[in-house]
Amino acid sequence: MKIVIGNLKMNLNSPKERERYLSLLKKELTGQKLINTELILLPSFIHLEAFRKSLSQKVKIGAQNFFFESKGPFTGEISPLMLSNLGCEYALAGHSERRRYFLEKNEEISLKIIAAMKNGIAPILCVGETKVEKENQETLKVISTQLKECLKGVSRTRLEKIVIAYEPVWAIGADITPSPHEIMEAKVLIRKVLVDIFGKKYAELARIIYGGSVNAKNLEAVCLEPEMDGILIGRESLLPHELIKIAKMVNE
Ligand code: PEP
Repeated sequence: MKIVIGNLKMNLNSPKERERYLSLLKKELTGQKLINTELILLPSFIHLEAFRKSLSQKVKIGAQNFFFESKGPFTGEISPLMLSNLGCEYALAGHSERRRYFLEKNEEISLKIIAAMKNGIAPILCVGETKVEKENQETLKVISTQLKECLKGVSRTRLEKIVIAYEPVWAIGADITPSPHEIMEAKVLIRKVLVDIFGKKYAELARIIYGGSVNAKNLEAVCLEPEMDGILIGRESLLPHELIKIAKMVNE
């Protein structure tokens, strides 16, 4: 089963905008059978319930962030338990925007991953190098450290629940993408690190996807050619027509 994830980020600023988005999305989904593809949308927390109520089982919902504790005196935070009770099946962990603007570190991300899994939420772990790290030829080192530190304490039998998104930071929101060869290389590296940590049998279970400036035009190069298990889409997921067009292409 392939996965197409739409990260709507901090958008849809009013109930009106949300309803407009949902109505366009439902129109695009009418009559579509995405048999081989899981479509997952990650709206802001405040829209999660409306998305769940409005969309059929064809679309799963997930969160863009969460805290690792289940409840208590953590003002302003959202727990994975709250998310699972709302019907969330997925949640991002370690998105580069969280690392950059909110200074999230691998240690905290690993706590989040464990907390998500305890609450039945499949974590989508984002890894990838910055432009400077790429120029310094540190891609392998960066991805390997992120994986080792963020997956610390994860039981190998739970790997089938984990999605690893290779998201080179320099390709996010940027209109440039790595070549199919570079994406394939990253995928091979990710799998190798997983084998080193968890052993071959279990490492095969994790799904590895690509994210960073994906659109219908470059889908072949960033997803189909390097044989990724799916994609993580930012900006284009705000356009229901484009999102469903991409989902259909992945599904074929
Ligand atoms: C992202 O932020 O995860 C992302 C993939 O964004 P975009 O598609 O806009 O580059």
